[in-house]
Amino acid sequence: MSFIVAIDGPAGAGKGTVTEEISKRIGLINIGSGSAYRAVALKTIKENIKLEETEKIIKLLDDIQIDFGMKDNKDIIYLDGEEVTERIREKDVSDIVSQVSSIKEVRFKLNDIFRKCAQGKNIIMEGRDIGSYVFPNADVKIYLDATVEERARRRFKQNKEKGIEMTYEEIIENIKMRDKNDKEKEIGALVQAEDAIYIDSTGMTIKDEIEEIVKIIEEKFLQNKK
Ligand code: C5P
Repeated sequence: MSFIVAIDGPAGAGKGTVTEEISKRIGLINIGSGSAYRAVALKTIKENIKLEETEKIIKLLDDIQIDFGMKDNKDIIYLDGEEVTERIREKDVSDIVSQVSSIKEVRFKLNDIFRKCAQGKNIIMEGRDIGSYVFPNADVKIYLDATVEERARRRFKQNKEKGIEMTYEEIIENIKMRDKNDKEKEIGALVQAEDAIYIDSTGMTIKDEIEEIVKIIEEKFLQNKK
């Protein structure tokens, strides 16, 4: 038996922050799908592969090692044994991740990893296509949204705290570019699943978002137990 919570939505909607908090609060394992796509993008950069060299990117998947872990109560991610949690948030990775994640072989490979990680476990997972494609039978599906300006403001603040250099204008451009790419993907496009609950978080505090989602999850968990 496993219990699956899927949180989908566009870049900067607060999915990462909300998911990390909720996973700790109710003891669900957090698998960050965006981070995994970012890890593949980082490997592409490290190997000096250009975006148009699709075959070479696909070849990288043969021996890529992506692992999720925990350090000082924070979710972390390893690429080929090296911790890359902060590195994958930098601009060079953000600039190409959407294109890398459009390659269907990349999606198939990562979806395999995600499904294996989830087997028999209680998990929470955030992304773009988790409720619509990766786990269509997820127990709870949330679609978290906010205006593009609000999302860019949040990302700007977050980057500043992490020491990542990107101007507000660069962020808003990057978010718009990723929104467009993510919605037009051949497989795993960003779309609200029919049975997902829509939450517009513009003007909501993170705390309010968390409270609302926790309430939905707890109700569903109790229902399933009956
Ligand atoms: O969530 P985050 O911004 O870290 O995701 C990085 C990129 O990974 C997104 O812009 C999107 O292109 C891709 N992604 C995806 N499918 C997911 C999660 C992320 O295509 N389930």
